[in-house]
Amino acid sequence: MTGTRERRLALLGATGSIGTQALEVLTRFPEVARLHGIAVGGTRPALVAQQVLAHRPERVVVSDPSRADAVEAAVRSACTAEGLAPARFDAGADAVVDLAGSLADGDVVLNAITGSVGLLPTLAALASGARLALANKESLVVGGHLVTEAAAPGQILPVDSEHTAIAQALAGVRHDQIDHLVVTASGGPFRGRRRDQLAEVTPEQALAHPTWSMGRVITTNSATLVNKALEVIEASFQFALPEERVQVVVHPQSIVHSMVTLVDGATIAQASPPDMRHAIGWALAHPEKLAGLATALDFRAAQSWTFEPVDEETFDAIDLARAAHREGGGAMAVFNAANEEAVDGFFAGDLSFLGITALIRAVLEHPRRPRALPADGVEPLLAVEAWARRTARQLIPSLEG
Ligand code: NAD
Ligand code: MG
Repeated sequence: MTGTRERRLALLGATGSIGTQALEVLTRFPEVARLHGIAVGGTRPALVAQQVLAHRPERVVVSDPSRADAVEAAVRSACTAEGLAPARFDAGADAVVDLAGSLADGDVVLNAITGSVGLLPTLAALASGARLALANKESLVVGGHLVTEAAAPGQILPVDSEHTAIAQALAGVRHDQIDHLVVTASGGPFRGRRRDQLAEVTPEQALAHPTWSMGRVITTNSATLVNKALEVIEASFQFALPEERVQVVVHPQSIVHSMVTLVDGATIAQASPPDMRHAIGWALAHPEKLAGLATALDFRAAQSWTFEPVDEETFDAIDLARAAHREGGGAMAVFNAANEEAVDGFFAGDLSFLGITALIRAVLEHPRRPRALPADGVEPLLAVEAWARRTARQLIPSLEG
C-alpha cells in the first residue's frame, strides 16, 4: 500500500466469522496493514491466544469482563511459552470503544462485532478519522442518521458483500445517474416454503445456510430475511437513497452480489464466487486491488444464474423494515433490538421461527413505543433500544401462548 507510514488495523470481533477471515486476508497480504489491536467477546480464549501469537497486536480487549481473566491467562501463557512480551490488556465495553477510537487518518478500523452493541465503536472510529471498514451493519441501521452525519465522504467502506458490490458498481457513476439499487438475496434455507411450512422450523435447520458460512445471528437473519431487511436500510444510508429505490431480488447462486440500475437503463452487476474474504480485502485495500484475493468465476464452464421475486407474504421482514425506516425516529433501532431478542428467544426454545418477525411487529406496533429523533443524539436512541429489548422479552411468552 502507498503512504508514508505503516497503516494500522484495529479489528473488532476478531474471533468471529468475519474477524477470522480478515486475519486470513492479513496473513496473505501483510502489506495491507499491521494489526494494532483486537477486540473480542471472550468466549474463545484459545483462539485469541493463537491470534496474538500469529499477528502480535499491541492491544487485546475483551468486551465481557467476566471472561477477561480466562482470555488474559490464555494469552499470557502462550506469550510466555514463546518468550514474547504480552500485549496491553483491557476489558469492558468502554475499552472496546477506546480501541475503536484510538487510531487516526490513514489507519483502518474493521468493525466485525455482531449487533447494535457495535454502534458506539462505530461512532468512535468515525470520530478518530480512521477509515471504517464496516461489517457491523446493525450500527448503520440503528443509528443511520448519527453514523452518516459523523462520517466524512468515503470514510465508511462497507464489508457486506451486497454493499461492496454496489460500491464497486458505482465506480465512475455520479449519484444523480443512479436510478435504483438491486440488492440480491440467496433466499436462505427456506426459499420456496410457504408460511404453514415454516411453523415447525428448528434452530438447527435455520443454521444450515445454502451458500454462506457465518455467525449465528446473521445466519438466523438470513433464514427470516431480516438480514435482507437490514441490508435494504444499510444500503439506503450508505448510498444516500430512499428505501423505495433499493429493490431486492432472490438470486439463489449468490454470485451476483448486487446491482445498480442507472437512469439510462443500464444495469451494472458485480459477480464473484461467494467468499467474504473478497469483500473484506476490498474494503481494507481500497482503492488498491489485491491480486489473487479470491478465486474468479470461470466462464469456460457452463453456468446459469437465476433471479426471482421475494415471496413477501411468507417473509414479511423486508416490508416491516421499510415501514420502520420511513417512519424514522428510532423505529429501526426498535426493529433491530426486537429482532436480536427474538433470535435469542428462538435459540432458547421460547419462540417459534415465525414468532421472530411476529415479535418485531408486536414491539413496533406497541402503543407506548417511545421515539428518538436523530437530532437528539445517541443517548435517547440507546434508551429507545433498551425499551425495545425489555418489551420484546416481556412479549415473548404472550406470542407463544
Ligand atoms: P460472529 O458472531 O461470528 O462474530 C462476532 C465477533 O464479535 C466475535 O469475535 C465476538 O467475540 C465479538 N464480540 C461480541 N460482542 C462483542 C463486543 N461487545 N465487543 C467486541 N467484540 C464482540 O459474527 P459474524 O458472522 O462475523 O458477523 C459480524 C458482523 O458482520 C455482523 O454485524 C454481521 O451482520 C456482519 N456480516 C457478516 C457476514 C458473514 O459472512 N459472517 C457477512 C456480512 C455481514
Ligand atoms: Mg450481506
